[in-house]
Amino acid sequence: MLEKIFFGFVLGAIFGSFLNMLIYRVTNNVSLKGRSFCPNCKKVIPWYENIPIISYIILRGRCSKCGYEIPKYYFFNEVFLAFLGSFLAYKFPNLKEFFISFLFFTFFHYMAVLDYLFMEIDIRPAYFGSLILLFYKVYPFKNFYPLFEVSFVVFLLYYLKEGYFILKGKEGLGEGDITLCAYITSYFGLYKFFLILSLGASLIIIHYILLKILKKENNKFPLVPYLYIASLILLLKSF
Ligand SMILES: [Zn+2]
Repeated sequence: MLEKIFFGFVLGAIFGSFLNMLIYRVTNNVSLKGRSFCPNCKKVIPWYENIPIISYIILRGRCSKCGYEIPKYYFFNEVFLAFLGSFLAYKFPNLKEFFISFLFFTFFHYMAVLDYLFMEIDIRPAYFGSLILLFYKVYPFKNFYPLFEVSFVVFLLYYLKEGYFILKGKEGLGEGDITLCAYITSYFGLYKFFLILSLGASLIIIHYILLKILKKENNKFPLVPYLYIASLILLLKSF
């Protein structure tokens, strides 16, 4: 058990480091090919300065050449996914189930962080992830119920979106939102999806009230991070 938890930790840290690279390159329009480099002095980072979590601590969050301060979210992502990985390894002793859950949460983490920090939506992992998750659940093609659940959510939200547009004359729900909901349903199933949706909505309301009390201005409530937090709460609750 302990080695499995350690394996989950290492895998999570590596994926956290990979996501940091991805987030940097997606938000700065840098090609995904090529080795990692310092955004400031362009120094290519040698492997021993690119070890997740450890290198950040040893270098004290700075580039070894120019002293450029590496964004704190680099460290956060690596540590967070490392703990998430070990928790998933603990919760899912079955290797297949572990990998499917790990994939679901790391993809979700990437989309949530991108939305929260950069107000950017990259929904491609949700498309790709939904396909993998559905295939995993439906294979060997005896039980098609998961497919029905996801179609139900997609059609329901699609009609809500169209209805809202007819009534209000403006876009209330984006296609990205619908894809994300399909993604959550393909992992959690219909019942838990509705739980996550109501939990996410409650979190937004609580955040809104807190901001009102603190008299802080904020009109942006990105949906993805709230649904991500709600999914994590549901994951923790059921262990
Ligand atoms: Zn540098």
